[in-house]
This record gives sequence, C-alpha cells and structure tokens, in this order.
Amino acid sequence: MQKIPYIFDIKRYSINDGPGIRITIFFKGCPLHCIWCHNPEGISSSREKMYAVNKCIGCGYCIGECDNGALLKKPEGIATDTEKCIVCGKCTDICPSKAMEMSGKIWKKKDLMKEIMKECTLIDSSEGGVTFCGGEPLLYPEFLNEMLQECGDEELHRAVDTTLFAKWETVDMIGRNCELFLVDLKVMDEEKHKMFTGVSNKLILENIRKISDAGYNFWIRIPLIEGVNADEENIRASAEFIASLSNKPEWVNILPYHDIAKGKHKRLGSLYNPSQVVMSEPTQEKLEYALNMFKNENINAKIGG
Ligand code: SF4
Ligand code: SF4
Repeated sequence: MQKIPYIFDIKRYSINDGPGIRITIFFKGCPLHCIWCHNPEGISSSREKMYAVNKCIGCGYCIGECDNGALLKKPEGIATDTEKCIVCGKCTDICPSKAMEMSGKIWKKKDLMKEIMKECTLIDSSEGGVTFCGGEPLLYPEFLNEMLQECGDEELHRAVDTTLFAKWETVDMIGRNCELFLVDLKVMDEEKHKMFTGVSNKLILENIRKISDAGYNFWIRIPLIEGVNADEENIRASAEFIASLSNKPEWVNILPYHDIAKGKHKRLGSLYNPSQVVMSEPTQEKLEYALNMFKNENINAKIGG
C-alpha cells in the first residue's frame, strides 16, 4: 500500500529552495536526527501537537475540550500528559489564539496540486518551481513520484530536497522525474556523522557519487556549524570529495548555522541538541575560508542559499 505523508508546512514565496520563487512542501518523517535540526517537526512521521506558551491567553477552553483529561493548567502554561493524549486535535481546533496547533495534515494529491497551482503565475514569472522537502520526502517514493509527474505535466520546475539516505532505486526513480536534487553534505568523518545525525554517511556519499555519475542536476548544501563540521579538516575533505565527482554540483551553498529551531523544539516538547554539543555560528573569516577552499577546487560555491 502506498505510504502517504503528513505534510507539516507549505511555504510560499520561498527563495532558498532552488531557483526562482518557489512553493515548498514539507513532508513529515526523517531517518536522520541531526542535533541542530531546523525543522524538528519533520523528524517524526506522525502528527504532533505543538504549544506556544507566549500565544496562550489562559482561557482553558482546551482543557474543557479534552475527553482524555490530558491537559492541566500550570503556572508555566498548559501541560500535556503525553501518556493520556491521543493527538486527536480537538484542543487545537478550539484554541482561539492558535497557541495549540497540530503539525501534520494529510493532503489528497489533487488538493495539493490545486494548492501548488495557485502559485503558478509567480512561479512562471520568476522561473521558479516547486520543491518537495521534509523531513525526508524519499520516505514516500510512490506519493512523491506521482506528485512530481503531475507537476511535470504542468511544466513546473521540480526540486527534491533530500538527505539521500535511501535505496539507489528510489533515488534513481525520483531523479528521472525532477530537475534538481538539493542534497545536504553534513560531516565527512563517518563516526562523527553517526554522532551528530544518528546514521552513517556511507550510503549518502555513495548516492551523491551515483547522482553525479548518472548526470542528475544537483546542488550541495553545507550547514556550517562550529563544534560540528566547521573545522579545516572537514572543510578540506568536503571540497576534495566534491572535486572528485564525475559531474560537479551546479552550486555548493555554504549555510551558516543559527539556532532558530530552539523555539520549535520548545513548542514540540522535544529537546534541542540533546547531546549538549557546543555549537556556534562560524565567523565571517571561516565562511570565507570555506568558500575559497571550494573555489580553489573549481567548484561553484557561495555563502547562503
Ligand atoms: S490532542 Fe486530543 S487527547 Fe490530546 S490533549 Fe488535545 S484534546 Fe486531549
Ligand atoms: S485554548 Fe489555547 S489559549 Fe486557551 S488555554 Fe488552551 S492553549 Fe491557551
């Protein structure tokens, strides 16, 4: 049976997810657990409830609506007993200030296509397109492929933002139905990659080499994080790896780390950076050092998306 994703966001007017102005569709579920994850609501493939205490007006409607007695008013806000909560969403439907919200909605393909096509004028005029990301969209290969085919029928430019932590057969199938892969290259050392993302980078590096050999168009994005991957050894190893590919990425985007995801983790009740690694933004000098390292290998690189 076809796996259907929960979609946790649809971002319009996106300018960092491929060329032009784009509409970006976010799928829930990811095989990686990066400690700096910017979209923590994309990690779990299930629907989740989020609570923003700063939006809560303390009306207590949510408590009255919950049949399971899962909500409790505390001095610090509304607490959810996750043992009792069945994530039915009734409390989020009644919340007048949207302090409580559900993350994750099932979309029928035809409705999702309609939503995408609402943006077609702006997409066309900016030579933009549609980007599928997550989480990891390749967790839903048939659904994704059908969406890509429908977008192709509408002559939209199609990008897939992926970890490439997937079987080659899946990557190859998706590659035939999109114009661009956006791939993160996080850490070159396998043990460190496991430590920071929860998985080995072997399959990812293999798949990057395969999409390059197959002639698929791709951009590589490097989230540069002091304390994780901004050391000279990793930057050099990344540049050497990319330089060794048979077909180079169209772009390498060096993306400086920021910690804006902290607030989202709080709303989800999940822990940001559970292993307490000291992470910080790279300095301008470090960003330029990385940029020059790639340029010296004749790689098209820039700072930012
Ligand atoms: S999602 Fe449903 S079960 Fe969970 S707290 Fe809200 S109303 Fe109660
Ligand atoms: S319904 Fe919304 S605003 Fe009211 S107490 Fe619950 S979370 Fe806060």
